[in-house]
Amino acid sequence: MSELINDIAVIDSYSKKVVSLTDNEKSILRQEIASLLKAKNAVMVVHYYTDPEIQALAEETGGFVGDSLEMARFGKTHSASQLLVVGVRFMGETAKILSPEKTILMPTLQAECSLDLGCPADEFRVFCENHPDRTVVVYANTSAAVKALSDFVVTSSIAIPLIDYLDGLGKKIIWAPDRHLGRYIQKQTGADILCWHSTCIVHDEFKTKALQRMKSIYPNAAVLVHPESPQGVVDLADVVGSTSQLIQAAKTLKQKQIIIATDRGIFYKMQQACPDKNLLAAPTAGEGAACQTCAHCPWMAMNGLKGIVAGLKYSGLKHEIKIKKSVIKRAWLPLQRMMLFAEKLKAW
Ligand code: SF4
Repeated sequence: MSELINDIAVIDSYSKKVVSLTDNEKSILRQEIASLLKAKNAVMVVHYYTDPEIQALAEETGGFVGDSLEMARFGKTHSASQLLVVGVRFMGETAKILSPEKTILMPTLQAECSLDLGCPADEFRVFCENHPDRTVVVYANTSAAVKALSDFVVTSSIAIPLIDYLDGLGKKIIWAPDRHLGRYIQKQTGADILCWHSTCIVHDEFKTKALQRMKSIYPNAAVLVHPESPQGVVDLADVVGSTSQLIQAAKTLKQKQIIIATDRGIFYKMQQACPDKNLLAAPTAGEGAACQTCAHCPWMAMNGLKGIVAGLKYSGLKHEIKIKKSVIKRAWLPLQRMMLFAEKLKAW
């Protein structure tokens, strides 16, 4: 826990620096990034939860904004020799596993994820060894070393169809690391799932009673929830889904007001997809809460324009993803299975 607190302190000091940039400084940095991308044959691959100005920059420079599966697909097929992955570390690692010949750069390698941190490879290995009869399915939000211990990697967009498929084959499952998502998948598929116990520090903060109150204030609003949220919050949802699925739902639902329980970084692309809709953030403060969280991942917030410039300019230990060849080789297999399954799913 103390390590986590230290990490958050670093994040706070870093994001303050980013926030303090003037418009003129930001404009200069954006121009510098565009030039560096061209000079280095690099492309930006950016997650929905990053700052809107970074998502906009990726779009302006021919890069990509998406969820972790879409990011992995884009990075693998793009012709650039260097990928600038803007998100959290496991996303950079996934890009490296799928594109080992490419240089994978990140604004900072300190951008972690509570799910990844909560599932250390050595402990997870013992857990798996104690249940050798189970198929190991891990969420994309894990380290390369944990992926290397698995049979399948999944993102939230294909977790349910894949586990449904495995259940149909009579497989018993180990699921890691998010316990809320594991419980949700179990409920949807009825599969025999043994869950690891981590949570996402952002989604875990959404509050059931406060959301009920918000629904009574906006009785015509649709509620969209990411399945990393607690059970009570998921139960109040009109739509439960991955970031891409929630954006699609916001576009197609007839309601004009939409309450969203996921990282607020998603608002940028969601508002682009449905400019006529009123997007409202789901509450993160419950009964008697002394403080309210901002529904924004502190690690995603570490990604700023200065970090992007530094990543492109200096590379090296602070910015380049390096993974042992043996780990890449082993982790590639379950990731490849996910990609193949996703392709088949599209064809079904
Ligand atoms: S929002 Fe949650 S799951 Fe996503 S990177 Fe941050 S801590 Fe991890």
